[in-house]
Amino acid sequence: MEIGILDIQGDVSEHENILESLGVRVRRVRRASDLETVSGMLIPGGESTVIGSIMAMRGIPDRIIQKKIPVMGTCAGLILMSKDVEGGKSVLPLLDVSIQRNGYGSQRESFEADLDVEGIGKFRGIFIRAPKIKRVGRGKVLSTFGGDAVMVSDGKNLGLTFHPEIYGDSRIHKLFLEGL
Ligand code: GLN
Repeated sequence: MEIGILDIQGDVSEHENILESLGVRVRRVRRASDLETVSGMLIPGGESTVIGSIMAMRGIPDRIIQKKIPVMGTCAGLILMSKDVEGGKSVLPLLDVSIQRNGYGSQRESFEADLDVEGIGKFRGIFIRAPKIKRVGRGKVLSTFGGDAVMVSDGKNLGLTFHPEIYGDSRIHKLFLEGL
């Protein structure tokens, strides 16, 4: 199985190492034509406005939707795959959630927390200028923090407000792969 990682910004090699450790081939996606052979797609964190405009310019969101490629989005990746972004526009409307960018505050308010993730158990989440999920429409909440959803799935798509890749823990990536 081949999985694409959007290679515009963020922890591309960290995600790549985790996916390869789980036995899948990784394709770094820079343009729409890189999507031809992938069975799933990972969108890392970074700056969603920058990633979103580059992606859109290159026709990547349209191709993901046409080919119905399942997406796992972390942090900015989740913002990009949300149907409703407060004060912004949706780039790849796959998850029926409303998002507030930087909902936990500025860079200084970044934090780590022990989360309880359905199907996984305890997981150390790193929230870096993280978005807050304000509403979940269709979909299943897999983890919460302070009363707010921090991980949501809908079918094969999976979105999380935190970074799962920093400590090299592969369990959330594995969950995504198992759903494909
Ligand atoms: N604050 C960033 C944004 O709004 C997301 C931060 C992240 O991906 N760690 O795009």
